[in-house]
Amino acid sequence: MKNPMIMTPGPTTIHESVRRAMSKEITNPDLDLTFYEFYKETCEKFKQVFHTEHDVLILNGEGILGLEASCASLIEPGDRVLCIDNGIFGHGFANFAKIYGADVTYYKSDYKKAVSSDELELFLKSNHNYKIATLVHCETPSGITNPVELICPILKKYGIITVVDSVSALGGEEVMADKWGMDIVLAGSQKCLSAAPGLTILSISDTAWNKIYNRIMPIIGFYCNLSIWKDWYVKKLFPYTQPISCIYGLREAVERLICDEDVLHRHKTIASATRHSLINSGLKLYALDGYSNTVTTVMVPEETSYDKIFTSMVKDHNIMIGGAFDYLKGKVFRIGHMGENCREERVYMTLKALDCVLRKNGVQLTNELHKEFVQLVG
Ligand SMILES: *Cc1c(COP(=O)(O)O)cnc(C)c1O
Repeated sequence: MKNPMIMTPGPTTIHESVRRAMSKEITNPDLDLTFYEFYKETCEKFKQVFHTEHDVLILNGEGILGLEASCASLIEPGDRVLCIDNGIFGHGFANFAKIYGADVTYYKSDYKKAVSSDELELFLKSNHNYKIATLVHCETPSGITNPVELICPILKKYGIITVVDSVSALGGEEVMADKWGMDIVLAGSQKCLSAAPGLTILSISDTAWNKIYNRIMPIIGFYCNLSIWKDWYVKKLFPYTQPISCIYGLREAVERLICDEDVLHRHKTIASATRHSLINSGLKLYALDGYSNTVTTVMVPEETSYDKIFTSMVKDHNIMIGGAFDYLKGKVFRIGHMGENCREERVYMTLKALDCVLRKNGVQLTNELHKEFVQLVG
């Protein structure tokens, strides 16, 4: 049987042109100078997506590598780090900071809502002695997007270096790294960029580089040390052999993204139509505000269970939706409408199947999910 359609919040569907690019004949990426140019051009294209004039790096490991590498490279033992925590990833970021000796303060806020920039500003007025702050752009498990455009400028005002996990947002939500004062922005190949899992893409400001180069304690480790990338282009020397086929795919994916002028608008429209079709049919969303444009998290109705929904979606309809982990395990299901998944046809098919599965499991829907969606998406 054909693989299921993966309507999960990453990995997402990969376009055929990206798959083809990955199967291109390779060269020796260490020795062939044309590959250094190709790689540099790929970084330049990402600068347009991050909206930055600073450096972009591509690291050879999936999204989590970016979180750990930022902590390993920036944090010196004893550095005070503010971890903004309104969800599983926001909370978890602190664990990486602690590995590298950070003195962590959690700024905890309601897990069902976006972080309020006003409340954070109030907190910072009397507590701003931090070198670094970590925050998550889109909390993928709960389907909440934080207002990084308001939060980062406030942190900058206090001279705090900002590290933003935008793994499930970049490509589906607007990112203005330089304008908003985001020092490190992290993205992953397998979410809104719809390339194969395996790469982290990050933008890094001069302020962040200065902190890295002016450390007293040396950076622990090699793979997570961002300074090993210094002058790679000038010296024509990568710190290690690049996964050339993944980068061929990523290049095609970022070109598709840049050409797609409607992409952010489409994410908004489809996310909104998805949410309202669910709500209008009697289902409940997990979040109370800050709804993500890339993923929607839905409460499992009490008549059924997550396992039943997941299994029947795959077995009867060949569509895979996501669940969640940690405190949300079994309580919610998630539709990932990001990147290549963010197409009306795909979301329509998913909601049609979901409508059928929920009814079969005794959930009394007040409307037909897919028909509501069609009306709303306009
Ligand atoms: C997916 C994701 C990551 C990377 O985690 P994976 O191990 O690739 O799933 C990091 N942060 C966020 C917010 C994510 O959604």
